[in-house]
Amino acid sequence: MLQPNTIPTKEPNIRVGIILPEDKQKNVSINIPIKSSYKIEIDGKKSNIGQQEVNINIKENRLNCEIGTKKYENCDQVKFKKLIEEAYVVVKPVVAGRVFHWKKQIEVKLPDTIEIKVQDKNLLLVNELPLEDYLMCVATSEMGAKCPTALIEVQTVVARSWMLANVEKKHIDLGIDVCNDDCCQRYQGINNLTMHSIQGTKNTRGKVIMYDKKICDARYSKSCGGMMERFENLWEGEPLPYMQNIPDMPKQSNFNVDLTKEENATDWIFLNPKTFCSPHTIDEKELKQYLGNVDEEGKYFRWKEEISQEELTKNLNEKLNLNVKNVLKITPRKRAGSGRMLELEIEYVDVDDKIMKKIIYKDYNVRLVLHPKFLFSSAIVIKDEKDNNGLSTKFIYYGAGWGHGAGMCQIGALGMSLKGYKTEEILSHYYPDSEYVKIY
Ligand SMILES: [Zn+2]
Ligand SMILES: [Zn+2]
Repeated sequence: MLQPNTIPTKEPNIRVGIILPEDKQKNVSINIPIKSSYKIEIDGKKSNIGQQEVNINIKENRLNCEIGTKKYENCDQVKFKKLIEEAYVVVKPVVAGRVFHWKKQIEVKLPDTIEIKVQDKNLLLVNELPLEDYLMCVATSEMGAKCPTALIEVQTVVARSWMLANVEKKHIDLGIDVCNDDCCQRYQGINNLTMHSIQGTKNTRGKVIMYDKKICDARYSKSCGGMMERFENLWEGEPLPYMQNIPDMPKQSNFNVDLTKEENATDWIFLNPKTFCSPHTIDEKELKQYLGNVDEEGKYFRWKEEISQEELTKNLNEKLNLNVKNVLKITPRKRAGSGRMLELEIEYVDVDDKIMKKIIYKDYNVRLVLHPKFLFSSAIVIKDEKDNNGLSTKFIYYGAGWGHGAGMCQIGALGMSLKGYKTEEILSHYYPDSEYVKIY
């Protein structure tokens, strides 16, 4: 595992959670395609040179393991250790899109060491591997393999920096550094590896971005919507000087409009400005060939989503534990510099026919409460349709961007790389004043 608050001087090994207890998975199949390429250890002792197919399930809180015709019952841990360099296993099923409405099950090819145990009555499957091998896979799992080299390089440097800054530690209680999904960084093993992505990672080996002698906590999201967001508007903690409200445009554009002002934010969201992440740079129909393979086709830069009065009422009651009968009005109260919401007011009638107000704070909560699907972004303009009694029957959200918008905008970085910008230029655009340094 990674050591907190240390800058490594050689490549570390990391632990990636592939099947987590929250997936509530009770069985898994592991296939070893290359004969005798693995050794299997059960509870650290019984050793078995890799058979083709291994099935593992949970029975009474313990592992049951079938290797060929042999059965091992009542085990604590099963470990797969590679015997040859090119060894990998095929694991299924594995959840992709864990927190999203498009969640699905896929199979993944994983290199190096696999460890399986029972955690909270469910399976925990961990893949342990060298950081650079992991990064190679993240670059193509996050984006399609057709991306220009500069983009693969930038994505790898950003992913490496975020990993080594090691600030979030979302799963430390499970003994893993990261999970395999968008909650941390999307990792689907060697499924989509190409020569191109391998080269992109080798070109940047050990290189990170740093600020004030620390590795940058390099957050990134799919589309900023045209303006980058500041760290402190999204998360707890001190402001990070390398995450600012900067337009995702060439420096010479001199765009200078204050999107915290309501009328400016409305114009911005409706007017479709020209930015690196807008369809002026890349047609959204063409995005499909560059983006990761489990993304839904969709609109990222500007989009529209609707919700009925009933659905919204239900969602608010569920997510906020309220007793809303009817929503009367939704009003933005305070916006951040990218047009994302800092404060939003919901005026409603409760079940006792009293008029009530609820303020929602921060981007994440706004996205969560306004739609059961979790809105792509909180940079939205809200309109409604009313019935004859003046009651809203439907709310319409016109939105900008996909994700939190801080740090690198992946679609914008793609736009820049297609326009011929170099790796360092893209990094310094999204993380101003950061230094690009080789640490190992
Ligand atoms: Zn995670
Ligand atoms: Zn952008």
